[in-house]
Amino acid sequence: MMRVRRSRVHGRGVFALRRIRKGTRVIEYLGDRLSHRQADRRYEHKDISDNHTFLFIVDRSVVIDAGVNGNDARFINHSCDPNCESLIDDRRVFIEAIRTIQPGEELTYDYQIGRDRNDPQDIDQIYACRCGAGKCRGSMLWPPRRKARPPRRAGKRA
Ligand SMILES: [Zn+2]
Repeated sequence: MMRVRRSRVHGRGVFALRRIRKGTRVIEYLGDRLSHRQADRRYEHKDISDNHTFLFIVDRSVVIDAGVNGNDARFINHSCDPNCESLIDDRRVFIEAIRTIQPGEELTYDYQIGRDRNDPQDIDQIYACRCGAGKCRGSMLWPPRRKARPPRRAGKRA
């Protein structure tokens, strides 16, 4: 249904090999399942400006680290005007098409990275978005004032 190759957006990306209908669960986001404490410990020596991690926050107790035992889902890039979304079902994470995707199109979803009061000042630079969408907000982070939705991805590799 899809394959990984170089992306114009960012590093590697995942591209549709055939038409994918809206509502299709294209892939599960797999990796080591950790507690937040375990994830913090695993990456405590990494500088936050090195956002080369594949952590996905499932809920308050579980983080998926696709850097270990991950699958191609970790290469799906962020977009501010995506064709997929991440959804959590029974504490598993799936990437689902939110519109019909044509062969050759790059799969994307909005990372909705949560903000933290310990974030450095240049956090929006670290997670700068260049998706090129008309409504690109310039950052993979979720806007500061909207608290309605929970934080999702904690970061992604370049
Ligand atoms: Zn963008």
